Amino acid sequence: EEKLQLVQRHVRAFPDFPKKGILFRDICPILKSPAALTAVIDLFEEHVRSHGWQVDLIVGLDARGFLFGPLLAQRLGVGFVLVRKKGKLPGTTLCVAYDLEYGTAEVEIQEDAVAPGQKVVIIDDLLATGGTLHAACELMKKQRAEIQGCMVVIELKDLKGVDRLKPHGVFSLLQY
Ligand code: 5GP
Repeated sequence: EEKLQLVQRHVRAFPDFPKKGILFRDICPILKSPAALTAVIDLFEEHVRSHGWQVDLIVGLDARGFLFGPLLAQRLGVGFVLVRKKGKLPGTTLCVAYDLEYGTAEVEIQEDAVAPGQKVVIIDDLLATGGTLHAACELMKKQRAEIQGCMVVIELKDLKGVDRLKPHGVFSLLQY
């Protein structure tokens, strides 16, 4: 469809970034194009509405989930909350550690960000191994939130992140 093609034309691939052997998908051109950015939010909104997802909050992942999440939240008339890399959020936080290729990382959320039983949709720019989104889902479990689903602009299929996130579904606009 037209909107998807518009989004696709605004994703660039950079070989060997951030290191040799990685083909990095760059979403910056989407942000630079009002039409492409609108198309992303339109498609996310259509998915939420057509699947009858009840949403109390959009949860965005550090850092590129912050670019799309608030726009979708405004469209849906709901709030936006941040899942950040460790050490960035003031006040009492909940924390989940996850494995990276080398070492581990931690994501955090403010303890009062989500109330028990609230329905959330988690947003990021890209799904690779699923480690990051999985950690965010664990944070939502700690908050006793009800996850409606995850949404990303791009899914890297070979890395099988969708399997890692089961039973939660991941909706993606583009698959490579
Ligand atoms: P995962 O945890 O699924 O392995 O990696 C996904 C996270 O890494 C996302 O937060 C995403 O922003 C970042 N990431 C990994 N590879 C890429 C890429 O090729 N392009 C972009 N834009 N982000 C990536």
